[in-house]
Amino acid sequence: MTAYLNFIGGESCQAFSGETLEVIDPSDGLPFATIPRSGAQDIAQAVQAAHLECRDTGKPLAQAKVDITACARYFEYYGGAADKLHGETIPYSAGSTVMAIRVPHGVTGHIIPWNYPAQIFGRSAGAALAAGNACVVKPAEDACLTPVRMAQLALEAGVLPGALNVVCGLGSEAGAALTAHPGIAHISFTGSTETGAMVAEAAARRHSPATLELGGKSPQIVFADANLERAVPVIVNAIIQNAGQTCTAGSRVLIERPVYERVMQMLSERFAALRVGPGGKDFDCGPVINRKQRLKIQAMVDAATADGVRLAAQGRLVDGAPEGGHYVMPTLLGEVPAGHTIAQQEVFGPVLAATVFDTEEEAADIANGTDYGLTAGVWTENGGRQLRMAHAIEAGQVFINNYGAGGGIELPFGGMKHSGYGREKAFEGLRGFTTIKTIAIQHD
Ligand code: NDP
Repeated sequence: MTAYLNFIGGESCQAFSGETLEVIDPSDGLPFATIPRSGAQDIAQAVQAAHLECRDTGKPLAQAKVDITACARYFEYYGGAADKLHGETIPYSAGSTVMAIRVPHGVTGHIIPWNYPAQIFGRSAGAALAAGNACVVKPAEDACLTPVRMAQLALEAGVLPGALNVVCGLGSEAGAALTAHPGIAHISFTGSTETGAMVAEAAARRHSPATLELGGKSPQIVFADANLERAVPVIVNAIIQNAGQTCTAGSRVLIERPVYERVMQMLSERFAALRVGPGGKDFDCGPVINRKQRLKIQAMVDAATADGVRLAAQGRLVDGAPEGGHYVMPTLLGEVPAGHTIAQQEVFGPVLAATVFDTEEEAADIANGTDYGLTAGVWTENGGRQLRMAHAIEAGQVFINNYGAGGGIELPFGGMKHSGYGREKAFEGLRGFTTIKTIAIQHD
């Protein structure tokens, strides 16, 4: 069994406690490695180091390759952007020169979830480093291995020892210690709304800024004039990608009544053909991350069907999938009332809830009728409606006749309402890792 270590101050090390946590392979439920069980002392050491130098997830192989490529692309993008980030001069009064310059926050904290450890590490730590900050990263206990390896590679690539630290452990211990540490000048968090609120509260107590990315209940809105052949495969992929464990998963499909039956037929055929199996074998869906997540998804689907929601179609498990793996069948639910729990709350699994609508206004109301506002997809050939819907929908990103579940390194990304605040990706993400200092010089 491989023993992975923390990466602090440019060196690999155990937790102070000497204790470890098992890393479980979601495909068969068995441990295959250990990580350090870090606590407040380890976090303090990592923050100190940063000040000095001011098989893991179970996802299909193809998705894992996309993630690693995207991670590299974040470093490439932000590496190229580092010398293009500048402030401005302000015409103020006669005989004066005023500059608003951008300065890094200092030591930044990064709490990374388990669904896209490589991509979120790249977008968060990559941008922070490029803006001149040092980083202390706390990856999710279930997905530490890639961030630890990335930090080792960063050292080899020339990042200064101490500038990029990774501390493994439990969220309630190492994560909470990082969030509360007085040496952290900015924290970026991706995860649940509940934990996000705790992180924001701790940041407020330190009077430091936070960026929160908290998931969603993103709608795909299909009008009767849409190109259905083009829309349907994208809609299916947007919910099964990474077994639905994607903040931007298109987990609701709102369908205009004249094409409702036809779209449901097309979706059902695709769902029934989906195959679920071990990540390394590259099926349509791998296992979900752990037992807790599998039980949560299953409980939400069971509660919906017990309420009379129609189970329209399901994928199936491949023969020979290891027992003990955390497999969930991709599930299409039909005629879901817009206010039902399964159409309101984030499932974070491959579950698509279909709802019928009659008018453009009703479609916008249903789309906006959840607590979330992360992304949305609109499928229509009507140009006027495309723009009206784009303006009407309360979401950080609106895609027309396409959908970017998790994609778009160059596109500003973040939520409205309970989906969070602050923006990541693109130049906007880089700016978020700086603050403005105004310098006013009177020279006559
Ligand atoms: P959490 O929000 O609890 O975990 C996200 C990250 O926060 C992990 O790194 C976790 O570490 C860390 N964390 C947990 N508790 C604390 C704390 N008190 N202080 C600081 N950091 C903490 O989500 P879960 O993993 O429990 O998943 C529950 C649900 O959250 C999912 O079903 C999904 O709906 C949503 N989620 C959304 C994500 C998104 O991309 N927006 C990503 C992940 C989850 P550790 O894992 O080690 O405990």
